[in-house]
Amino acid sequence: MFFSTDSRILVVVAHPDDEVLGCGGTILKAVNAGATVSIMFLGEGTSSRFPVGEYHSEEFKTKTKIRTNSALNALEILGVKDYWFGERLSCQFDNEKLLAIAKDIELRIQQFKPTTVLTHDRSEVNVDHRLTYDAVEAACRPTMQNSPKEILSFEIICSGSWTFETSFKPNVFVDISDEWEKKMEAWHCYKGEDRPFPFPRSDEGLQALSEYRGLSAGLHKAEGFKLLRKII
Ligand SMILES: [Zn+2]
Repeated sequence: MFFSTDSRILVVVAHPDDEVLGCGGTILKAVNAGATVSIMFLGEGTSSRFPVGEYHSEEFKTKTKIRTNSALNALEILGVKDYWFGERLSCQFDNEKLLAIAKDIELRIQQFKPTTVLTHDRSEVNVDHRLTYDAVEAACRPTMQNSPKEILSFEIICSGSWTFETSFKPNVFVDISDEWEKKMEAWHCYKGEDRPFPFPRSDEGLQALSEYRGLSAGLHKAEGFKLLRKII
C-alpha cells in the first residue's frame, strides 16, 4: 500500500465505527498524503441492540441518528468528504441476498474507480463483517470494469478478538504512531460504543492491539492488513 495524490481508496465497511477501528490511522495517513478516500457504510449499527423487528420506537430513531452523527463527526476528523450510508439492519445482512450487497459495491466501484479497496476480513464473529468480505470479493472480480488492482482486509477489535478457530493474520503493517492521537479522537466520536477494559473496544484495548501489531513490524503502533490481491 502506497499513498500519493493518485491513490483512490475505497473503504467498504458494515457499520459506522468500523472505519475508525479497522483503518482510521491508515485513512489519516492516506488523506495527509493527498489520496482521495471514500467510505461506504453498508448498514447501520444500532438495531442489533433492540428486539428483532422492533424498530419503530422513538428510542430507535434517536439512537440511529446519534450513530450517524457520530460517524459524520469522525469523518470530519479523518478528513474524509466522500461517503455513502446504507440502511441495512445491523447483524442482519444475512437476511439479504449477497448479490444485492455485491451490486451496491459494484456500483460504487464504477462511480469511484478505486485503486485500492480496504474491507473486513472473513475471520470475524460479526456476520455483517463476514458478508461484507464476501460481497467485496464478488464485486471485485478482476474482469469487471474499473476493478481495483489492490485489495486488503483489516480487523475489527472485538468481532475479530472472539473467534474460536479462525484468526486474522496480517502481512501488511501501516505505521500509525503519528496518527494515533487523531485516530483516538475519531474513535471518541462514537460515544457509547466503548466499554471499560478488558472489553476489547476500550481505549486500553485499542492501544494494546495497535502495539501488538506494531511488535510484528518494529513499530510503536500499527494497523495490520492482509493483502488479498495485488495486480502489477
Ligand atoms: Zn461492524
